[in-house]
Amino acid sequence: MKTQEILRAAKSLREKYAVTDGESFRLKNCNPNETDGLPGIRKIDSKELLDDGVRMMADLQDMLYAQDHWSILLIFQAMDAAGKDGIIKHVMSGVNPQGCEVHSFKSPSTEELDHDYMWRSMRRLPARGMIGIFNRSYYEEVLVVRVHPEILQSQKIPAELIGKNIFEKRQADIRQMEAFMSRNGTVVRKFFLHVSKEEQKKRFLERIDTPEKNWKFSPTDVKERQHWDQYMEAYESMIQTTSSTQAPWHIIPADNKWYTRVVVSGIIIDTLASLNLHYPQVDEKRKAQLQEVRATLMAEK
Ligand code: ATP
Ligand code: MG
Repeated sequence: MKTQEILRAAKSLREKYAVTDGESFRLKNCNPNETDGLPGIRKIDSKELLDDGVRMMADLQDMLYAQDHWSILLIFQAMDAAGKDGIIKHVMSGVNPQGCEVHSFKSPSTEELDHDYMWRSMRRLPARGMIGIFNRSYYEEVLVVRVHPEILQSQKIPAELIGKNIFEKRQADIRQMEAFMSRNGTVVRKFFLHVSKEEQKKRFLERIDTPEKNWKFSPTDVKERQHWDQYMEAYESMIQTTSSTQAPWHIIPADNKWYTRVVVSGIIIDTLASLNLHYPQVDEKRKAQLQEVRATLMAEK
């Protein structure tokens, strides 16, 4: 596919799935099984598009790294088995490992619990020129902790600060913090991989029935599934309150893995392409210097 065609496709996918103002957002209007964001693209045609997309992402990342001004923070949130790991593997497949970092956030450690909940994420933010990928993130603080508020007790927060609206306040703080990041050159893009409850069941059964996939399955995943509706409410509230122009959520249909990849790759390409990236410009003084060095090298015996 030609560069211009890929860029056009990427832009239309971003426009279709981005939420920049969450006020009227409803999860029930989003179909996890949808695959029709790009007219004419079906599973069999997606390979070529994905390969071209990976190459384009690699070129853009090279300039991002050389320019050393912007940083990109990609956040992935989802229910278990929605495909976070697979999509991260795909996104990483073409980029220079030197310019990219992945961090996975699990239940906090004792050291982490001795700090506010943002601390561990702040230490992992991407440096300028880098792409940082968060596999889960500080958003767990308004998801798993909201569904299981007893977790708050382990966080060592002064009791008088745990009020009724603690999760709304957290969402407001996160919104502010992301505004701060974007005002300072970190481009924040957030992805909710939206898998259906039926598809999750299918994937769990596959993990149980396929020996090579057994390691991916944890019985606690099924326990969390029992709280499905509460999770969906928490996700909806999170998307409503923390979507913004600078740090949009993208609701990615995740029942078909090939489509999830096409959409996420498109959105990342569109994001990078919108930054007007270029290699550092060489001024006249430096050009003259390079010529001098060249002459010295050529004169070597
Ligand atoms: P996979 O299951 O695909 O390997 P995962 O991201 O589900 O990947 P796990 O080790 O299974 O990794 O789960 C991490 C768990 O940690 C999740 O259940 C998540 O909700 C939990 N977690 C993450 N952050 C927090 C947090 N701040 N407080 C409490 N639990 C958290
Ligand atoms: Mg898990």
